[in-house]
Amino acid sequence: MSAYHVAFMPFPAFGHINTTLPIVAELVRRGHRVTFATNGRFEPLVAPTGARILRYESWLASRKLPDQVDADYMAHEPVRSIDEAIATVPIYEEGFADDIPDVLLYDVSTFAAGRVLARKWNRPAIELFATFASNEHYSLTQEIGNLYKGEIDPHHPALVDFFVKQGTLLKENGLEGVTLEEFNAPAEESNLVFLPRSFQPAQETFDDRFAFVGASVGNRVAEPEWDEPEPGRPVALVSLGSFDFDHQGGFVRTCLEAFADSDWHVVVAAGESVRREELGPVPDNVRLMDWVPQLSVLERADVFVSHAGMNSVIESLYFGTPVVAVPHMPEQRLVAARLVELGLGTHLPGTDVSAERLRSEVDRLAGDEETLRRVHALRDELREGGGPARAADYIESRIRH
Ligand code: UDP
Repeated sequence: MSAYHVAFMPFPAFGHINTTLPIVAELVRRGHRVTFATNGRFEPLVAPTGARILRYESWLASRKLPDQVDADYMAHEPVRSIDEAIATVPIYEEGFADDIPDVLLYDVSTFAAGRVLARKWNRPAIELFATFASNEHYSLTQEIGNLYKGEIDPHHPALVDFFVKQGTLLKENGLEGVTLEEFNAPAEESNLVFLPRSFQPAQETFDDRFAFVGASVGNRVAEPEWDEPEPGRPVALVSLGSFDFDHQGGFVRTCLEAFADSDWHVVVAAGESVRREELGPVPDNVRLMDWVPQLSVLERADVFVSHAGMNSVIESLYFGTPVVAVPHMPEQRLVAARLVELGLGTHLPGTDVSAERLRSEVDRLAGDEETLRRVHALRDELREGGGPARAADYIESRIRH
């Protein structure tokens, strides 16, 4: 079999990168060359896969996310991603100049650069969805827009700017013939989705352009140790994901209160920015960590109190752990709603929940047999999805195709 050159261009954030690393390792193991574009923060995580790294700095990845995501902020989000594409296309072009890849993989946040390069290089592209996939019938962007119904003016200057700048991006790259409609198609001809099909809304409308490979989990490097309790003791994991928010400290305090004097062994990803002295006394049964080895803890956990980031939710289900969702970002609210719809977890209004309510939901969910039955069925579906090996087969088949 020939060896291929595969380019990965996921957005530099844990929620976008974690699913790709086991696939990269698998491709390298099969003898392919992989070039992985990423920033300095993720370089140490990518290097052990054996991929060549194309390093760049991403403005979009280094910004601090706001505590309140209002309609105006959301209206500006698309144009931010086009600005990033305008800045990064020349960097990718230079980095790949003498070694054009056989296929390139981009995701929902790097789509503009990915689509420009695939057309310029005349190479197949695969879109990566570590969230709900979109097609002609279901649009995640539309669903998020619906959460702000009536609040975002369709003529908002930032939305107009988005299309103007896209036109400029296409023109500057000699792609005037590509229409904006074609350029903004909801997906590629080939798409990898890191969900089980049953978690995807409108699943019946997703045809064979979409490969639902399920969870893409593998060994993680440089993970801290966690303090595992004696067998039989119930374990709760608490994490609001990989970004630090100002509301995090308050929520950690709620957790300390909720789980004090309980039988639960609680592992909390408190984040680096939460000042420990502001938290008050930490009960003996709670372990605060800056960063948790999430997969290892989930393997043992009975319940996951999560911000409902898609990766966290899929990882939880992969280990058969039900989720108490405390979403913050709009997309997380949709994930939380889907969890409830499928009977896999519960959805609390957000991190300002009371300690009593949090505790009672955790106790209820962990003991709910119907929820556990559904979670275990989904775990089985996820494990049959094929994960990184099937994703690698798919990438090879797209190149041959
Ligand atoms: N993660 C982790 N330890 C932590 C916090 C996060 O390993 O303490 C990982 C988690 O396993 C997941 C990713 O970071 O793979 C977070 O992605 P997700 O989509 O859940 O949320 P985001 O951080 O993008 O909001």
